[in-house]
Amino acid sequence: MNSEQISQFDRDHLIHPYTSMTEPLRCYPVESASGVELKLLDGRVLVDGMSSWWAAVHGYNHPVLNQAASDQLEKMSHVMFGGLTHEPAVNLGALLLEVCPPQLQKIFFSDSGSVAVEVAIKMAIQYWQALGRPDKSKLLSLRRGYHGDTFAAMSVCDPVTGMHGLFEKVLAPQLFADAPTCAFADRWNAADIESFRSQIATHHEHIAAVILEPIVQGAGGMFFYSAEYLREVRSLCDQYGVLLIADEIATGFGRTGRLFACEYADIQPDILCIGKALTGGYMTLAATLTTNALAEVISADKGCFMHGPTFMANPLACAIACASIKLLLASDWQGKVEQISRQMSSELAPCRLMSHVKDVRVLGAIGVVELYQPVDMAVIQKGFVDRGVWIRPFGRLVYLMPPFIISSAQLNHLCSAMVEVISRIRTGT
Ligand code: PMP
Repeated sequence: MNSEQISQFDRDHLIHPYTSMTEPLRCYPVESASGVELKLLDGRVLVDGMSSWWAAVHGYNHPVLNQAASDQLEKMSHVMFGGLTHEPAVNLGALLLEVCPPQLQKIFFSDSGSVAVEVAIKMAIQYWQALGRPDKSKLLSLRRGYHGDTFAAMSVCDPVTGMHGLFEKVLAPQLFADAPTCAFADRWNAADIESFRSQIATHHEHIAAVILEPIVQGAGGMFFYSAEYLREVRSLCDQYGVLLIADEIATGFGRTGRLFACEYADIQPDILCIGKALTGGYMTLAATLTTNALAEVISADKGCFMHGPTFMANPLACAIACASIKLLLASDWQGKVEQISRQMSSELAPCRLMSHVKDVRVLGAIGVVELYQPVDMAVIQKGFVDRGVWIRPFGRLVYLMPPFIISSAQLNHLCSAMVEVISRIRTGT
């Protein structure tokens, strides 16, 4: 099939994320990807600024990850996890215990971030049920949060941007505190926690857990908030007997400059969700980790934890995840992320001077330009592709989250394209 035939079939039959089923915008057929480059079927090569949504931290087609995949394929790509176990799952479990907050000792492997969030919510609810407190069944979340597209996950997403209106009749009603406003680098303003404090103080007898994205509110607005906010949340959860679920699906594995964003506040959650970069973006795999204490309560009197997907702990994905984590730890990822951070800060700075730009912010390997108005996706996407870069904005946000292996010349290409395309929105050319 040539590029045109692929595009035509895709338009007629394949549904893309958050897209019209009948009048989708044009998609660009990719032939292959290697390092930090995506090669389109029409021969054009794009520098990747997205890491395929936070995931491909080592870039694409990495020889070490390819080797791990082919070695595991020779043995088995999948086997059920009910009644069976295998070395890739055990090796990955052992690696996660080394890198995750130490109080998290029990691991549930699932197949996507949204499912990891469902699992976390079930753990929290089962915990309180096992303690004879079935009334503690609500979740307290933050406005501007995003936790996935399945139903329980949607119920804790921001009520305005999170499709609550559309699915109102079936979504579990949850509690929401105002989004943090004190930015990561700002001086802490104690008033910022008041909405959260008031929600937890009023409703704690009905709250099973708080769920939040530590430090970076991602798909809900790409906002970086103060570590002090997170510390306050942890201490209020302890004070009121509420569990804390940290959703590090986007932030995990170095993206913010720390291996996990919770480290900025020096706190440990009771439940942790990870995914995305877990396999270096090679396969879909996620995990929900919790403490021995939670596990013991849930499992007292032979109680079972009630979840078990078909592709749980898929050996191929686990083997690649092991290789990806080892590769990350063996690299100077922190130095690399700092370098990316510095370069984005200086090279995206010209956007600050544009009158249609509201804010420019950088944390770790995440660079965000927030506009006052939503972008015209079809126009801006073509503008980027024409300049040889893959950058996919949403709403008012144009952002970069490149693979950590990006060279400074490639990053310069991304940043200059971003500055140029954004400046043309203003002039309308
Ligand atoms: N939580 C967060 C913080 C996310 O960013 C995402 C994905 N964007 C999810 C959960 C859901 O993950 P998935 O798309 O793998 O279901």
